[in-house]
Amino acid sequence: MRQFDGIADVVVLDGRIAAVGRSVGDRVTDAHPTAEIVDCTGLLITPGFIDIHVHVMKGLGDFCVGADEVGVQMGVPVVVDGGTSGVATFDLARAAVIDHPHTATKVLAFMDPNQLYLATKDFICHKLEIANDLKNLDLDLLAASMDRNADVVIGLKARACHVGDPERSPFLETAQTAAGSKPVMVHLGRFPHTPVITPQALLRTLRGGDIITHAFRGAGGMLDSTGKAIPEFRDAVDRGVVLDIGHSGTDFRFREARRLIDQGYLPDTISTDLNVFNIGGPVFSFAENMTKMFALGLDVVDVIAMATSNAARAIGKLDEYGSLEVGRAGEVSVSRLRTDGPFPVSDGHEVAVAETAIEPIGCVRSGSWHPARSLPTFATVGKTWGPALDDSDW
Ligand SMILES: [Zn+2]
Repeated sequence: MRQFDGIADVVVLDGRIAAVGRSVGDRVTDAHPTAEIVDCTGLLITPGFIDIHVHVMKGLGDFCVGADEVGVQMGVPVVVDGGTSGVATFDLARAAVIDHPHTATKVLAFMDPNQLYLATKDFICHKLEIANDLKNLDLDLLAASMDRNADVVIGLKARACHVGDPERSPFLETAQTAAGSKPVMVHLGRFPHTPVITPQALLRTLRGGDIITHAFRGAGGMLDSTGKAIPEFRDAVDRGVVLDIGHSGTDFRFREARRLIDQGYLPDTISTDLNVFNIGGPVFSFAENMTKMFALGLDVVDVIAMATSNAARAIGKLDEYGSLEVGRAGEVSVSRLRTDGPFPVSDGHEVAVAETAIEPIGCVRSGSWHPARSLPTFATVGKTWGPALDDSDW
């Protein structure tokens, strides 16, 4: 609801937004004397933040962090798991994390289209070469699982591996077929152990609404040797392909982001790809990602849209999330917009300075208030990763 910007109360009742407006809270406390009141004087109240790429199927492999650790405890009521699980393990992941009574965060998921896929620290499915084995695909079982889990599986996350022809990925094609109108999230760039199709072929294959995560990593093949977006990239964006940050440890660079932003390519969504490798830096938190966007000169209102309404649209949930309209899901983020900087932020290579920062205070998730835990400070640069890759070294 970008149209509304002012001082107001937000009332959540029975897990839904019940009223927004000046002094509406007073009427509610009269009618509901036990209602929980959170004093947000001087704070920023927005639709609940949505991180569309995290790894939170903790216990399934060794790559994931806790859903609440990167969700409600960071002021983010809704997170989307980025393909940690394939089809055969998804029901277990759902029971253990998504539906677990101790999980407060709303967890949605991009499922991997393979029967057996598991994100692990050592890329086991790539190392064993089952991520590029056609015997690992079963369209019927995939479709059945997507039907069974249609309330939480909002799309598929495909690795564009090939089986000989570097212009075609049966895994991506299967994902698109099974996804129907739901989005397919892909990476740009290489993976250890298994070959992927060329960036040009990948960009040509993407449909409007499909999502490129790690889109601002550099070394993804979307820029030519002079730093200009290649035609396939421009065409993909014109078709409505979504550009997502997917920061991760090595997959976001201020330098590449500036190059793309200078050419008019802003991120649509600003996910973190939080996992065990990067939660201690350089990613830290979703709020830190927002602050990094400020360091790139992006506007506060635009960045909040990237964190809320754009993210809701990208995952096909704009009717549920991304707005504080009455009747929507009762997910609200409360943050402090800090102007007492400067705030140094790091992509793992370069420290950039933001004059404004987002500090999460907490969030309402389905009607319950969750205070944010204290997060690393902006001055913490975090791990520095290996040398930045060249654009041609995708
Ligand atoms: Zn990821």
